Amino acid sequence: MPLLQVNDYDRKVYEEELKPFLPQTFIDCHCHVWLDEFHTDCEKRSGSQDWPDLVAKDNSVEDVMETNRLLFPDNKVISVLYGEPMINIDLKRNNEYVAKYGNELSFPALYLAHPKQSAEELEREVLSNPVFKGIKVYLQFAPGYIPDDEIRIFDFLTPEHLEVCNKHGWIAQLHIARPKRLADPVNYMQILEIEEKYPNVKLIVAHLGRAYADEDVGDAIDVLKYTKNFMWDFTANTNENVIRRVLETFGSHRLMYGSDFPIFRMKARRTVENGFYINEIPQGSLGDVSYDRHMR
Ligand SMILES: [Zn+2]
Repeated sequence: MPLLQVNDYDRKVYEEELKPFLPQTFIDCHCHVWLDEFHTDCEKRSGSQDWPDLVAKDNSVEDVMETNRLLFPDNKVISVLYGEPMINIDLKRNNEYVAKYGNELSFPALYLAHPKQSAEELEREVLSNPVFKGIKVYLQFAPGYIPDDEIRIFDFLTPEHLEVCNKHGWIAQLHIARPKRLADPVNYMQILEIEEKYPNVKLIVAHLGRAYADEDVGDAIDVLKYTKNFMWDFTANTNENVIRRVLETFGSHRLMYGSDFPIFRMKARRTVENGFYINEIPQGSLGDVSYDRHMR
């Protein structure tokens, strides 16, 4: 079975809309790669969505190349590689895999960091391979005693790690937590704090701050509009209003394309009902999804 069913309609959209618009070569700033064998017995922590697990048990570099070929047959995509940020993954093996293939393919990579690592260890690890251009952090690695809904950015992207990133001008790729998403002042005030205190950090706020519904924006754009540095990736965000507001406020130079592979190998249309996002997928394409309120 192909990794992605490309039908006549998809081909038409590519030929008539995407191909004339896209540069021949472009960057995908958000691509997860890992193998199933890197999983450990460790219990997964809640606080992340379940539905992404339906899409793929792993995502090898070969699968990334094939997905890019299927989606953009006449373009060259440079994928920024990083691991699967889950607590049931062997970080060391995953980082080694990312580094090996990043080097082989001349793709940049980000080191999957754990907040428990000392600043010295983080610095040593990232510097150990020039393929690493910075770090990927994730809310799953926040200390276990913090309730999932209360995780703040600095609980998993620590000030110590930000100091190291600031010293070297590294990327920090950030997926924010909390049910109110971008609209939560704890999130946007800490993004602002990173911008002001760590001016050399190349912060990327993933998924437009997970503002998938209009209601998820709140006052964030008004507060952040005077910032100059941090970047947005619009990975997995299909909300036209949010994308337009970010584009108009921050400019296209602050926005990046990302695939979030393998997640958006899933064919879906995303809709929003009462501020709640729903992925509508072809009937039966991922088995029974009735247990997940985000799937239809
Ligand atoms: Zn991601």
